[in-house]
Amino acid sequence: MNALKCAKELGRDAIFEKIKAAGLKMSGLRMGDLAEQLKACSVGAAVDAGLDNADTDGALLALLRENPERVLEGIKIAALALNTGEANLYLPEKESELAAALQPVAEKYDIKICSGIVDVRKTEGDFYLHLASAADLADLFTDSYEDGVYVAVNGQPLKKVARDTKLGQLTSLDGAKAIWTGYHYYTPAEAEELTVEAASNALVRVLTDKECLVEETKKQLTEYRRVSCGKCVFCREGLIQLEHEQREITLARGKMDFLDLTKEIGEAMRFSNLCSVGQRAAYAPLNAVEKFPEEYESHIKKNQCPAGVCGAFVHIYIDPKLCTGCGECLDVCPEDCIEGKPKYIHMIDEFDCTKCGKCIEVCEDEAIIQTAGKLPKLPNRLTKVGKFRKH
Ligand code: SF4
Ligand code: SF4
Ligand code: SF4
Repeated sequence: MNALKCAKELGRDAIFEKIKAAGLKMSGLRMGDLAEQLKACSVGAAVDAGLDNADTDGALLALLRENPERVLEGIKIAALALNTGEANLYLPEKESELAAALQPVAEKYDIKICSGIVDVRKTEGDFYLHLASAADLADLFTDSYEDGVYVAVNGQPLKKVARDTKLGQLTSLDGAKAIWTGYHYYTPAEAEELTVEAASNALVRVLTDKECLVEETKKQLTEYRRVSCGKCVFCREGLIQLEHEQREITLARGKMDFLDLTKEIGEAMRFSNLCSVGQRAAYAPLNAVEKFPEEYESHIKKNQCPAGVCGAFVHIYIDPKLCTGCGECLDVCPEDCIEGKPKYIHMIDEFDCTKCGKCIEVCEDEAIIQTAGKLPKLPNRLTKVGKFRKH
């Protein structure tokens, strides 16, 4: 028998009892006892199921993709417990293909698919159900429920593990620069102590020295700006400001003042916004600035991106000892920013160079070098091959 049919046969009181006895917890950011949260809601309140608004990664959507009926039955069981016919499934705006694929099965269950984040102003009094908890509810009523937390580690498929599993048991933290999970950055030492319960969005990403934390933070803020409804002033304006600061730093235009400003805006955002988008968006820049100040100082004070990711800090130059003056690079440069003539050492004008790398590909002598470090001494005028001297 399927989960919904089992729940219907049991009736409302027995549904509550079963959820309570199993100790089901709400997943995501509204963690807590699921039976208590249901009880606290008025009979007849609509059920709004989805991810947390702040969850822009959507790792838990895999549950819907793998087995939509399981999640939809869980939503209907919650609706049954609240004696309501109104059930909505919220999907991120960018998931229009998933929404279209789910439409027929949602109609079968009389569940309305809504696009975008849950509008907390319009849904006050509704019962919020996390997608992972909907899946748990369905499992409970087919007697296949196992307590645990869903995690997707470093892009691997989603799996459920025991709540006391340490992050270090799931993946090696050796060589990690930072760990991103549950909307926070952690240092490797902090992550060693964390259990998977910290992964409220199921995502665990180990960032190495190949990743730039300023760039990563900028990308997250851009994503938050995309999903924000903009109705809270601190969310709307704070996100613009925070994203701008990170962008300027990655473009080598950062100032040390930005760090204090980031802390000030981030702190205000944590408490001044209505939903988890504005509240959680603050943590990435706050954590990055407070726990990894050397990343920022390197960009701002030393003019270097330690990961070599930020293009503004990457240099492309022609090694005067290796260039044979063949002219191949000059012919392919789309910006016309290579100067040279046959048998002369060619030179790149960095001002116009877009770092597209086309010249590197054609240079058979491997004379064109990309570096995140300092430039060596280079010729400042056309010089015959073999005639360049450093001093
Ligand atoms: S925090 Fe942001 S997304 Fe959430 S309601 Fe306010 S403006 Fe909208
Ligand atoms: S392709 Fe290489 S060797 Fe030829 S001119 Fe350019 S830099 Fe020099
Ligand atoms: S990286 Fe691209 S733009 Fe820059 S010099 Fe080479 S070909 Fe030209």
